[in-house]
Amino acid sequence: MSKQGASEAGQNESVGEFQETTNPALTGLQGRCPRCQKGHLFAGFLSLAPRCEVCGLDYSFADPADGPAFFAMSIVAFPALGFALWLQLAYEPPYWVHLLTTLPLTVGACLLLLRPLKGWLVCSQYFHKAAEGSIDWDWHADLTRSQNKTGGRAGDAKVEATTTHRGGEGSEKA
Ligand SMILES: [Zn+2]
Repeated sequence: MSKQGASEAGQNESVGEFQETTNPALTGLQGRCPRCQKGHLFAGFLSLAPRCEVCGLDYSFADPADGPAFFAMSIVAFPALGFALWLQLAYEPPYWVHLLTTLPLTVGACLLLLRPLKGWLVCSQYFHKAAEGSIDWDWHADLTRSQNKTGGRAGDAKVEATTTHRGGEGSEKA
């Protein structure tokens, strides 16, 4: 029999043992966790799980807002309108026919798209490390430091020197 104690002791939180997604669209459409590609993103139809049940990734970073709805509407709108126009022009049915055909088709298509679209956006957010705007103080500190050091002129001098040197070598192109 396998050593239960050893395998439990071997478990840790490291990301290294998981295969992060390289294709956030595909992983998202499948509703999988972007960090391990094994756990599930969703707890309900559209509600996210609090965290991945496999690798423990906290999903609280995820904030696709109305993105899924926007994409679903944008994708469905043209075919739905096309269908409604075709139905109307081809058969000239009474308007209530649209209530039984165009309307459920449109709503159904949007609902079907919402979940994969939300998965895609959440995985993309993880993949691209997208988050609310914040100020990178380290970057600012580095910038200020380097500006003080060079005094802003060193860069120009270097470019001038390089140009002169190139001109001196001359005739590469005859
Ligand atoms: Zn995971």
